[in-house]
Amino acid sequence: MEADEARLLAPFAQKSGESQGRKFGEPSHSYRTEFQRDRARIIHSRAFRRLEYKTQVFLNGTGDHLRTRLTHTIEVASISRTIARALRLNEDLAEAIALAHDLGHSPFGHSGEEMLAECMREHGGFEHNRQSLRVVELLEHPYPNFPGLNLTSEVREGLHKTQVTSLEAQIADLADEITYYSHDLDDAIDFDILNFEQLEEVEVWKYAANSVRKRYPDLREPELHKLIIRDVIDRQVQDVVATGSAQIASAGLQSASDVRNRPPLIQYSDQLADANRALRKFLYQNVYYHPRVAEVNERACEMLRKVFETYLLDPSRLGEAATRRIENEGLHRTVCDYIAGMTDRYLIEEFERIVGHPERSRGIR
Ligand code: MG
Repeated sequence: MEADEARLLAPFAQKSGESQGRKFGEPSHSYRTEFQRDRARIIHSRAFRRLEYKTQVFLNGTGDHLRTRLTHTIEVASISRTIARALRLNEDLAEAIALAHDLGHSPFGHSGEEMLAECMREHGGFEHNRQSLRVVELLEHPYPNFPGLNLTSEVREGLHKTQVTSLEAQIADLADEITYYSHDLDDAIDFDILNFEQLEEVEVWKYAANSVRKRYPDLREPELHKLIIRDVIDRQVQDVVATGSAQIASAGLQSASDVRNRPPLIQYSDQLADANRALRKFLYQNVYYHPRVAEVNERACEMLRKVFETYLLDPSRLGEAATRRIENEGLHRTVCDYIAGMTDRYLIEEFERIVGHPERSRGIR
């Protein structure tokens, strides 16, 4: 497989046989590359399974067809693979980074993240990208001889959003954006907080809608918006493949190490970058803080705060593994890690145990 990679992938792709390796040495595997092993480690982790019951934007459980953190992650992985393959880059690496990118997300989406950051303001803060690294380096512990998943340095570096490493990491990063731009529009329409008139002011939407209407003039809802969303994704992916490929060519890359310490090459065209900025602004103004989203998230976050404060006063409520971390990590960080790892529903149940009456949170389910 390593020989196949050398033959099939572009010279500037990150080959698994050229990995910088793992922090704790392990023998290589007989029929899987290093990045394939990383992908499997991530999928088999507890943090990955919990993504199923964590909010993406709409509180987990609000509607069974709305995205959860898990289905979001799977979409990011799928788009990452498509782009990586089109550019002859390492699909397994891009996919592994995509699958791990949100492992550190707290319950209750971005509102939950803000609340945890607030609880941790005097104690080192909280940010989900950094937390994803903590999950794979410390909090998961499936192996007897070392903490964490012992992933390759290329996958771990890909989770550091601050430094430019591989093209594969850049792909996973943009695929995340492409995914949420499109699925947040889709879910917001399904959830009836966006309508077609409002969307006419959004270039990304209008471009795709015009193209779909030309091909299917009689198409009506709900099929219409599904096809429009499909076109939105298709345009974004095509644009990134074309722009990225041109950027790579003009940079004259010879090897994977040429990618380091230079600005990202996997990008949107200038025109689409502008349109996406406007789309992002639109989503902030019309979706993420829409009363039907914000109110329920705010109530959920008050539960998070209450649970956080209760653990500080009574650490005996923490699980066994968390209790063992207090000595090294301190109480605040331990509580933060513990809560960040929870699913929405576990946090709600824990809140109910603490206040002793389930009716207080019933409206949120
Ligand atoms: Mg994400």
